Amino acid sequence: MVTIVPAFGRLGEENAFAVLARAGQLAAVGRDIVNLGIGQPDMPTPPHIVEAGVKALRDGHHGYTPAVGILPLREAVARDVHRRHGVEVSPDSVMIVPGGKVTMFMAILMFGEPGAEILYPDPGFPIYRSMIEFTGATPVPVPIREANGFAFSAEETLGLITARTRLLILNSPANPTGGVTPKAEIDALVAGLATHPDVAVLSDEIYGTMTYDGAAHHSLLRYPEIRERLIYLDGASKTYAMTGWRLGWSVWPKPLYDAARKLAVNAHSCVNAATQWAGIAALDGPQDCVAEMVAEFDRRRGLVVEGLNALPDVSCITPKGAFYAFPNVERTGWKAKALASALLEEAGVATIGGPDFGVHGEVYIRLSYANSPENILRALERMGTFLAARP
Ligand code: PLP
Repeated sequence: MVTIVPAFGRLGEENAFAVLARAGQLAAVGRDIVNLGIGQPDMPTPPHIVEAGVKALRDGHHGYTPAVGILPLREAVARDVHRRHGVEVSPDSVMIVPGGKVTMFMAILMFGEPGAEILYPDPGFPIYRSMIEFTGATPVPVPIREANGFAFSAEETLGLITARTRLLILNSPANPTGGVTPKAEIDALVAGLATHPDVAVLSDEIYGTMTYDGAAHHSLLRYPEIRERLIYLDGASKTYAMTGWRLGWSVWPKPLYDAARKLAVNAHSCVNAATQWAGIAALDGPQDCVAEMVAEFDRRRGLVVEGLNALPDVSCITPKGAFYAFPNVERTGWKAKALASALLEEAGVATIGGPDFGVHGEVYIRLSYANSPENILRALERMGTFLAARP
């Protein structure tokens, strides 16, 4: 019998994919399912981006590219960073990767080993913890609290740093909470990091274009004092509705860049060439498609928050970013995971239980409002009927 190394026993999952599969199974046997589980825009990729990808294939871009990505795309990323964050980065510090997940994979592999501690947001994207455990490092959850608007607390985060901390993972705007950490809190966090020069920072800014109510996204790239230890994670999946194309990018400090390049050479060689040309069209093309999508998410956010707060014993703070609502369901008397499961099986509404995002997600469920207003309203109506019938 073959056996694989024990590290794989520690590798976790992203339950959103299991829920997507279950929703698909139920739909296949004729059930009408509204899927607010998966976190991906329901809009198609904007046509000018699709055309650029098709043209690249027709123009013969069929071969390997440099492992770090083609120079015109790395230059486009540098322009995007400058336009959005007012910061100059060299295209030689930019790495093109097959999705934002790959940047987190690389960064956690670089700092994770037995004895090392890695801080990550809880509730947070489940792959952080999964990857940390895979490396044998100790995952140290940073509590992300509703009372704090689901923003990071600089004080609480800094208080968790020890002599063994190697990496701090930040995510704002955040999955699954929609929280946006304000500039003042980031200022305080960066100031506190001055006394911890051996701690690297991975800033997951994949939802950076999606903020509402005047909340501003404040990139960690804006702090020159931590640039030498900052890994910036971004990508096309959410901003340009390109989840299936697999395109992400990251900015690395010089000493880490070559290690990331070598990982790319070993793991995937390069990102699909046509996808990279489509990425140039996305970043250099008109940005009104992004503004339109964000405005649409904003409208849906209003619907979902109002609808959730009208449900019996459910309360939901207004998320300031991304496209998730994270209602507190403690007063319903349901355990969050059981509620998410019953909503799918009995009411035909797919959501994700908060515990799938960490121990501090215990009394919440996550709804993605990247779905049509009609579907959101249908889901809310079904949830209302379900909760009223099963108090
Ligand atoms: N980071 C966060 C916080 C996410 O929610 C996701 C996707 O859901 C990702 C990164 C990775 O996205 P992708 O690999 O599609 O770029």
